[in-house]
Amino acid sequence: MTIINIGDANAALQDWITLPEAGRPPDYAEVFTRQMQVPHQCVHIALNGRSILVDAGRMVPPGPPPFDPEATRLLAGLAAAGARPEDITDLVITHAHWDHFNASTIAHDGGFGPRFPSARVFLGQPDWEAARRGEAWQNSDSLERTTFGALNEAGLLTPVHGDLDLDHGVKIVAAPGESPGHQMLRIRTSGYTLFCVGDLYHHTIEVERPTYMPDWAEPVSNQASRAAFAREALAANALLIAAHIPSPGRLHETATGVTWVSV
Ligand SMILES: [Zn+2]
Repeated sequence: MTIINIGDANAALQDWITLPEAGRPPDYAEVFTRQMQVPHQCVHIALNGRSILVDAGRMVPPGPPPFDPEATRLLAGLAAAGARPEDITDLVITHAHWDHFNASTIAHDGGFGPRFPSARVFLGQPDWEAARRGEAWQNSDSLERTTFGALNEAGLLTPVHGDLDLDHGVKIVAAPGESPGHQMLRIRTSGYTLFCVGDLYHHTIEVERPTYMPDWAEPVSNQASRAAFAREALAANALLIAAHIPSPGRLHETATGVTWVSV
């Protein structure tokens, strides 16, 4: 398993959790304003002949610099893991926010084609539907059309309804909230459980305070997803990787709920 950081953003928690200053608990006050390096992480997993990639992103404007138009960081990370783009068998897109899928295709022949030509691409059905309903879908140059549209035309896009069991203990688990089709990858092997949780949590504070979330998230489904996930992750003592939390962790039970302990 290899974590590939495609780039850091400089941000403060208050940039994405819109909690009024008066509502911030005193022990978290400094956490909200401190500038942090926020990574954007994809994950590669080699398992039983499968070569699985969770999210495929690159830093391009209007994202934070340094920019990486050629997806150099993602490809270098895969190479370090011993995987060529054509080796990838499965690409799980956790959700349809740009940094999680904008490196899934590559310009060729005046159009766009899959960057990982052998990979089935799993995208939550509600995110696929939302992309096709969106205004950008009318524009053939849009990010959505040049990625999801191109992958669909190549016959690789696989919309996922709810949970989806793949073989060898690999499962896509729906976790809506961050986006309607947000999903996680769970792997159970040899008694161990790994979750790639995408953006279920962006910061460990959201683990302790599951009502904290960005204003683009849908609160009811997001809290339900977080509650169900926390129960399962605790019971399995699962190893967890979140796209924007710098180190892997596990959940520990506290007097008031759960906390993320980095490992
Ligand atoms: Zn994200």
